[in-house]
Amino acid sequence: MPDELLDRLRRFHEHTFPGVQEQFQHLVREGQHPTILFIGCSDSRLVPYLLTGTGPGELFIVRNVGAFVPPCDCNGRAGNQLAGFHGTAAAIEYAVLNLAVAHIVVCGHSHCGGVRALYEGVTADAPNLNAWLDLGREATLPAAVSAAGEVRPDILRRTEQRAVVLQLERLMGYPMVRSRVDAGRLALHGWHYVIEDGEVHVFDMHSGAFVPASSASHSGTGPWLDPGAGISPMDAW
Ligand SMILES: [Zn+2]
Repeated sequence: MPDELLDRLRRFHEHTFPGVQEQFQHLVREGQHPTILFIGCSDSRLVPYLLTGTGPGELFIVRNVGAFVPPCDCNGRAGNQLAGFHGTAAAIEYAVLNLAVAHIVVCGHSHCGGVRALYEGVTADAPNLNAWLDLGREATLPAAVSAAGEVRPDILRRTEQRAVVLQLERLMGYPMVRSRVDAGRLALHGWHYVIEDGEVHVFDMHSGAFVPASSASHSGTGPWLDPGAGISPMDAW
């Protein structure tokens, strides 16, 4: 049986790498200095480098089902040996404290299977997925099912966007994020990528809406109407 993956690895090493060798070796010599933490859904149709026109060394990326952010567990594993394996939380801490990123992007997208599963549920043999989805449940809306028994597309779209805002709010629960946002050293960006249009809609906290990048005046704002005041747009949205 042909090993397609091995073929791909050889192609990269022989044909692609020579063209970017110097770039990568520079990044090894100088270390990585990405300025953006990109928290995105694992969906294969979401390609952060394409969306942002970035390349090696420019994005520190963590991806998971739904682009969810767990609440800050400031105690880590202390006192609970069964808790604390928070991969996404660890990436946030490393990006903010060690890499000192200036931006955190939370990027959801259209046709998100994770958001759909919030309404349709998951199979019983996926207990970890079911538990993980708890991080998005607060974004769900009532009356989501049409007369035909299907989840309404407009509700799904709105839930995808509400989930992004919810994760931005959770980010502010991380002390190292909050202090840097309040000090103006870190910006949070909420994005919703519409796959079929090839366009990101950015969250605007003043209107409480997602605006297509083609007509937006900024690249997305964080959750607070007044930095330091702790006003949540989820309350009014
Ligand atoms: Zn998704």
